[in-house]
Amino acid sequence: MTYSKSLVWFRRDLRLQDHRALSEACRQSKQVYVVFVLDTNILNRLSEKQDRRVAFIHEALVDLDKGLMSHGGRLIVLHGNPIELIPQLAQELAVEAVFTNEDYEAYAKTRDHQVAKALHNLGVDWHSFKDHVVFSGSEILKSDGTPYRVFTPYKKAWLRALKADHVAEAKPNFKRLASMSPAMAKKWSLPGLPALGFKAVDSGMEATVKAAKKALADFKKQMKAYADRRDFPAEKGTSQLSVYLRFGLISIRSCVRAARETRSKGAQTWLSELIWRDFYQMILDQFPHVESEAFQEKYRNIKWPGKPAHFKAWCKGQTGYPLVDAAMRQLNQAGWMHNRLRMVVASFLVKDLLIDWRKGEEYFATKLLDFDKAANNGGWQWCASTGCDAQPYFRIFNPVSQSKKFDPEGEFIRQWVPELAWFEDKDIHFPSDTPESRRPQGFQIGKDYPAPVVDHQNQRYLALRLFDGTKYLFRKHRKTGSAI
Ligand code: FAD
Repeated sequence: MTYSKSLVWFRRDLRLQDHRALSEACRQSKQVYVVFVLDTNILNRLSEKQDRRVAFIHEALVDLDKGLMSHGGRLIVLHGNPIELIPQLAQELAVEAVFTNEDYEAYAKTRDHQVAKALHNLGVDWHSFKDHVVFSGSEILKSDGTPYRVFTPYKKAWLRALKADHVAEAKPNFKRLASMSPAMAKKWSLPGLPALGFKAVDSGMEATVKAAKKALADFKKQMKAYADRRDFPAEKGTSQLSVYLRFGLISIRSCVRAARETRSKGAQTWLSELIWRDFYQMILDQFPHVESEAFQEKYRNIKWPGKPAHFKAWCKGQTGYPLVDAAMRQLNQAGWMHNRLRMVVASFLVKDLLIDWRKGEEYFATKLLDFDKAANNGGWQWCASTGCDAQPYFRIFNPVSQSKKFDPEGEFIRQWVPELAWFEDKDIHFPSDTPESRRPQGFQIGKDYPAPVVDHQNQRYLALRLFDGTKYLFRKHRKTGSAI
């Protein structure tokens, strides 16, 4: 046993089972404390005070504390700047080491570096573990030692490298959890949401480890059908585990184990999605510039001509394109959106409304319960054709054809755009083209439902010109040094 007392700092890993940092701390220490910091550097930036993510985390922390209590431990909750609070707590508890799981976002990397440095100055050891991904940024590299930029060869290398050990369960020895006096428990208890400056709101999801495990177990039974069902937003054809994975109520390893145990085409397709998750974490880690600009240099100087009024209409789900509007209203009301629809609305914003993809990325970041910087940035840059291995710029989704193909009976549209509920299936995808004789009596486009804010064919042409023009200027700039 190396340490008599240590501390585990929880962040995006709110569970006790299959937890690398906790199991390592328990293996190396006689007594283990557990802390979570409600980080004001993050919380203070949230303008929406009824934030579902904060409500979700709050509920998950209550669940985590209950889990710890059942093993004789307690959760220490602090509120403030972790760069100051973690070293202070380490001193107060007189721990000899702090254990944590790695986080690959730029803010987190800087924060952890500073905390580790402050701890080092106090003579406290720092240990961090890979837990959020199966393979971290520098583990899967090309033969020349550089990171992959294309998904398919990355995926092949990922699958070749995968051994049972990479996804083995990390089992903490809960006997090592330190107990706390009632006074300590009171001092470090979880404040209510109002004390944190937030209002209570229903996150729409049960933030417990039990619910996360049930979601995986339920999905495992239907994983075989994933490849065929995953594109239809009216069906529950995907796992809906993204929120649980984001906050770590379930481990990525348990998901990969479930896919490997299931052995079917559906399971293989699902495993591919989990590999996309690692891929985008790797991209963010190895190419941090993607946080603020296009991955591909040639698309960094696009002058997006889109209008603010169109952006507003897109945000509100009032574009006159029913599938886009249904998806945006689901995002606004439920904090979640189906993957097919994330692609449709992102493509619409960038290639129909000609608005900078970063505006859409930012909007998603404020609304998605599963918001994850790596996956969100990767998804947006893929749709905008600016990312690594993105879809080519001349592939432009037609929002009406997408609607006919993936919501053929308009079931999803009817759920979120109820004013269109009485349109016939064949008309619901683009009501402004429906002859008056087939519209519900008295229904007026422009009054009962918006007229299309743009014409898709027109905008498609403009988008192609915008991308072609940018490429041309970039090539010229490369050759002659002229301004872009
Ligand atoms: P499933 O289909 O069951 O997939 C299982 C898990 O694999 C997901 O929970 C997720 O963790 C991961 N995954 C699936 N697809 C992707 C992908 N394309 N990229 C990375 N990981 C993936 N996902 C997020 O978790 N957070 C985001 O902020 C996010 N923003 C996105 C923005 C855009 C514009 C696009 C196109 C995609 C985005 N995604 C994001 C990826 C994907 O849409 C969601 O992960 C998925 O819809 C979540 O539903 P699910 O859990 O049922 O997924």
